[in-house]
Amino acid sequence: MPAPSLDVLASLAKRRGFVFGGSEIYGGIQGFWDYGPLGVELRNNIKSAWWRSMVRLRDDIDGLDAAIIMNPRVWEASGHVAGFSDPMVDCRNCKHRFRESDLKGPPSEIACPDCGQRGTLTEARQFNLMFKTHVGPVEEDASLAYLRPETAQGIFVNFANVATSMRRKLPFGIAQIGKSFRNEITPGNFIFRLREFEAMEMEYFVPPADEDRWFAYWVEERLRWWTDEIGINRERLRLRPHDADELSHYSRQTTDIEYEFPMGWSELEGVADRTNFDLTAHGAASGKNLTVFDETDGEHVVPYVIEPAMGVDRAALTVLVDGYDEEEVAGEKRVVLRIRPSLAPVKVAVLPLLRNRPELVDIARRLTTDLKQEVAAMYDDTASIGKLYRRQDEIGTPFCVTVDVESLTDGAATIRERDSMTQERVSIPAISERIAELVAGRSAWAGKAAASSAE
Ligand code: ATP
Repeated sequence: MPAPSLDVLASLAKRRGFVFGGSEIYGGIQGFWDYGPLGVELRNNIKSAWWRSMVRLRDDIDGLDAAIIMNPRVWEASGHVAGFSDPMVDCRNCKHRFRESDLKGPPSEIACPDCGQRGTLTEARQFNLMFKTHVGPVEEDASLAYLRPETAQGIFVNFANVATSMRRKLPFGIAQIGKSFRNEITPGNFIFRLREFEAMEMEYFVPPADEDRWFAYWVEERLRWWTDEIGINRERLRLRPHDADELSHYSRQTTDIEYEFPMGWSELEGVADRTNFDLTAHGAASGKNLTVFDETDGEHVVPYVIEPAMGVDRAALTVLVDGYDEEEVAGEKRVVLRIRPSLAPVKVAVLPLLRNRPELVDIARRLTTDLKQEVAAMYDDTASIGKLYRRQDEIGTPFCVTVDVESLTDGAATIRERDSMTQERVSIPAISERIAELVAGRSAWAGKAAASSAE
């Protein structure tokens, strides 16, 4: 099916506890969203998938968790104080504000996209995207600090600490996941563009001569991650190299991984060749030696850096858009989130077929307790079985276990798989192990169509 609209997704996300509007009871605040019980699980699963492939499974990358607020000199040296800005255009009539890059022509020649008036748009002005705050009790210039707009600088300023403490030689990487803040002019498209988001960035330090080779490697590797490990449809992904005039101030080459979102192709992740820009700048501004010995050249160099950078929130949106499906089952619409079991907020739901039979409820509750030792599991008996299945389908739960009257005599229960709606009958003591195997992808599903179906 075509991608669902963002309205459909936002409504599902709210109804089912994935994402709520930030400060909603006070009318909200633009560009900030809160993640509900299922959203926090989905985000944690995305972060673990990234950390697993970027840090845990590799010998050449270390993790880091730097502070959000840093010495403001960091942002001067990095060029963010001077250069991290979007040219912005205001409409004098309706007071709306636009990014110049979003306008379809020069501001002096086009009508305001919002109110339609001509001649009301101002010339473009620079607008720094960093949030400012003050450290300590006195609000004066000397106490000025910034909320970080990217996590990368925390990595650059700790470059020598990590290299020394972990005895690293080139090439090696440092990875970090953490909140980032940008005072975006036009936040929107649900959780696509936020003012507070979580970044996952990895800086890969290489000998200067190997820059192009590693850049190509990381573009391919990141695309592979999206398809093979996250399960995103390859046809909705594409690579887009940046034109020279859109490169960031630190970049020599950048390729975006774009996804076909409901509002069109947009950036999902960027892979940037940041050269030795940041380490050179920090070396000069701090007076510290940020070189390492390059065995290829036999001399000390400031390494070059290749950076794959993405946002957790945009990844969550992509997983929701890509997994959303609607189909007709027994004459009724079924909404199903076809996402990988590893990403699903709930891996298994245990549902007693009859909630007024205490023996069944008792078995189901005990089974849930066992399952919780292995995976994220929940018990639900608040509706009829058909409704309970639909609810789990909509939140992407890959497996449901139903305990029925026969369970009392045969000691088994039925596992039902989300996508095929087929079933396996498994003895109750073996269910936890079976579910753990299925969720981890260590064993294949062997379900059969149900003889009598509650679908
Ligand atoms: P854009 O052109 O969309 O403003 P950017 O090129 O400034 O993005 P980068 O600095 O390359 O973005 O950030 C890397 C990644 O961080 C993006 O691919 C995206 O996944 C995420 N990201 C950046 N800004 C935001 C934001 N405001 N809200 C949510 N995610 C963001």
